[in-house]
Amino acid sequence: MTPSQKTAPEARQHTALLTWGERHRRDLPWRRTRDPWAILVSEVMLQQTQVARVIPRYEAFVAEFPNPSACAAAPISAVIRAWEGLGYNRRAVQLHRCAQQVEELHGGIPPRDLSALLKLPGVGPYTARAVLVFAYEDDAGVVDTNVGRVLARWQGRRLGSVEVQAIADAAVPAGSGWAWNQALFDLATEMCTRRNPQCEQCPVRSECRWRGQGIDPADGSARVSAGQSRFAGSDRQGRGRLVAALRRGPLSPSEVAEAAGWPDDPIRAERILVGLVADGMAVIGDDGAATLPDAGSFEGRH
Ligand code: SF4
Repeated sequence: MTPSQKTAPEARQHTALLTWGERHRRDLPWRRTRDPWAILVSEVMLQQTQVARVIPRYEAFVAEFPNPSACAAAPISAVIRAWEGLGYNRRAVQLHRCAQQVEELHGGIPPRDLSALLKLPGVGPYTARAVLVFAYEDDAGVVDTNVGRVLARWQGRRLGSVEVQAIADAAVPAGSGWAWNQALFDLATEMCTRRNPQCEQCPVRSECRWRGQGIDPADGSARVSAGQSRFAGSDRQGRGRLVAALRRGPLSPSEVAEAAGWPDDPIRAERILVGLVADGMAVIGDDGAATLPDAGSFEGRH
């Protein structure tokens, strides 16, 4: 038995959390399916966007691209358009490339194999395990920033990156990977929240070593985000504005600074546009106008 396994939650904690999870499970569209493509899409969207914003976009995206084949065959501009409202548009480009690789290398079905999933564009350790657990119902720990926070509090100390994954994996009750991880997500969202944990009502209180007393061990623990940097005035905001403008149509060089929201700083706007081109989200035509990649062929098909 490894040190990680020794510190994994006990059987009674399994029962308490699974029972609580059954009663409090949020009804979310990606929880009603085991389709690995739909799960992959939802997880990529959820990486950096809140659940409420993801729900309508996820349903529309899966309706438009019901499988990797449909996504791979679509022009990338169509995928970027379908990403509207989600932010971090680079994910749309990576998802399109991912669909192409799934189509070419895996017969159009996201593989049930961790190392193969990790080789797909835009798929990191979190997303790969999420596909294995939420599509294929494998037993593994799915550690996002919320689950990382809960596990650090349970253990009562900061955790390293390898350690938190090992603890998460060891904690999964055999045969209950799907329900266990969903319950952990719901516990993190509704009870063990970042600022105001409800320890008095918590189903795993008796096993938790922190219980809201003293310095929060989640601060600085692995996988736990310190929160997003300020959006207003950031390069990220300028990128978002430019992609939004490109969804509407081509941008001539003289329109770029205005579209980025920095009419008095064309150099900064140009730098952001160059970054979009490097990331595959925009191309510059012979006339100097910026467009979404393959926007011409997309426009011609509709
Ligand atoms: S007892 Fe408090 S800190 Fe521990 S898991 Fe429950 S809500 Fe989180």
